[in-house]
Amino acid sequence: METSLQRIMRKTGRRPIECKCQKCKQQCKTPCLGTPEDILRLIKAGYKDRLAPTHWCVGMALGKIDYPVLMIQAKQEDNGYCTFFNDGLCELHDLGLKPTEGRLSHHSITKENFKFGKSLSWNVAKEWMDERNEAFIKEITQLMLS
Ligand code: SF4
Repeated sequence: METSLQRIMRKTGRRPIECKCQKCKQQCKTPCLGTPEDILRLIKAGYKDRLAPTHWCVGMALGKIDYPVLMIQAKQEDNGYCTFFNDGLCELHDLGLKPTEGRLSHHSITKENFKFGKSLSWNVAKEWMDERNEAFIKEITQLMLS
């Protein structure tokens, strides 16, 4: 069966990429979005306290959808960066636990070539409403509440 990552790669045409340039590091101010599978992996790896419920409102802000999408994602710390951004690097990178948006994102994705339907953020957000992820989301909810 196709995984969320495979589905998102197919829909966005993006492939995993590594880049440590300043522009890519700037993207780590806003925590990259993970699919339910990504977030469940993070909880099981012991990172529950670095995660929090959030409403994804980008689709509403762009006038593309008329509802927020509820998800669990990495927290943003008081320093303005993602909780996993340390000394200029992603803590999760070498652990193979980086969320899908971060794995597939690159500084070449700019406002000029942004297409909502093919965007990484929308395609990850959709995974939180996809019934194929129901079991993952149920387990996430139970673990976050425990
Ligand atoms: S999880 Fe890693 S790649 Fe994603 S925003 Fe945080 S530091 Fe950056």
